[in-house]
Amino acid sequence: MKLLEERILSDGQVLGDEILKVDSFLTHQVDTKLMQAVGQRFADIYRTHNITKVVTIEASGIAPALYTADALDVPMVFAKKAKNLTLNEELLTTDVFSFTKQTTSTVSISRKFISPDDRILIVDDFLANGQASLGLIRLIEQVGASIEGIGIVIEKSFQEGRQSLIDKGFQVSSLARIDRFEAGHVVFAEADDASLDKK
Ligand code: 5GP
Repeated sequence: MKLLEERILSDGQVLGDEILKVDSFLTHQVDTKLMQAVGQRFADIYRTHNITKVVTIEASGIAPALYTADALDVPMVFAKKAKNLTLNEELLTTDVFSFTKQTTSTVSISRKFISPDDRILIVDDFLANGQASLGLIRLIEQVGASIEGIGIVIEKSFQEGRQSLIDKGFQVSSLARIDRFEAGHVVFAEADDASLDKK
């Protein structure tokens, strides 16, 4: 998505060899107009999949997932890291290793929000090693709902996440794909939605 790539180039900060900081428009302060365009783009890609729910993981996935759900006119559900769900609720639970924090946390979704006949689009802000997406897949597979695809705002293609998801047979749609960081600058690979930019 050209608009997103331009914003990454103008406002993203490369930290070390592996991290891109985008806290001015995605992970802390959120540019709502850009997120609306992101949501619209995921909706355009998955329009024919009859998506019934968009699922993400708190916190930074919530903004793009919410706009995507709005554009598809379906609910958005986010997996919670905090254990503040009521104890009498039936929970889907798994452990996720956080790439940025280098810690493992337990994430949960209440079973009542995912049903076996759901057709789910997973959305997340970043794809690095795939642990967040694989965790969400494990939660959804406990119920047996269909996972129609994984929409990623920014994929770091030099890490293994994309390949792990593709190897498991999932469709991955990344709006920006970072091939590498070169002397502190971002070099893109062709995004999965590039053909939609040219229309
Ligand atoms: P994964 O689970 O694919 O290894 O990593 C994805 C998660 O880690 C995302 O949900 C995101 O919160 C975080 N993350 C991974 N790489 C980056 C990065 O380069 N920048 C930021 N801001 N977050 C990242």
